[in-house]
Amino acid sequence: MIKEMVCVSCPIGCMLTVELNEKNEVLSVKGNTCKRGEQYAVDECTNPVRMLTTTIKVSGGKLPVVPVKTSKPVPKGRMFDCMQVINNEIVDAPVKMGDVLICNICDTGVDIIATNDD
Ligand code: SF4
Repeated sequence: MIKEMVCVSCPIGCMLTVELNEKNEVLSVKGNTCKRGEQYAVDECTNPVRMLTTTIKVSGGKLPVVPVKTSKPVPKGRMFDCMQVINNEIVDAPVKMGDVLICNICDTGVDIIATNDD
């Protein structure tokens, strides 16, 4: 099977062509102009992850929500579960940038961090 994707590891955005076998193992990567592109293609085909950025509701703050992000990328297949937890959370003000608002969300080993004050 052949998959085509754009490498997003840098702004150049090389178009990658990835050859996979029937077990979804990567046989070859073409189109990358550096090693990072090859690693990106392998990760994207075997364990795709994403940084999650969103907001959490705040009780008693200046604003009703505070922006947050994950402390590291989350497996793509767990994004929906994480968003459900975040959407059901209400944190108490004051919130400081860098505060850990949710520890180990959905047992992913990833924390949810405030990216601003409230
Ligand atoms: S393959 Fe290398 S040069 Fe091309 S987009 Fe990815 S990181 Fe950038």
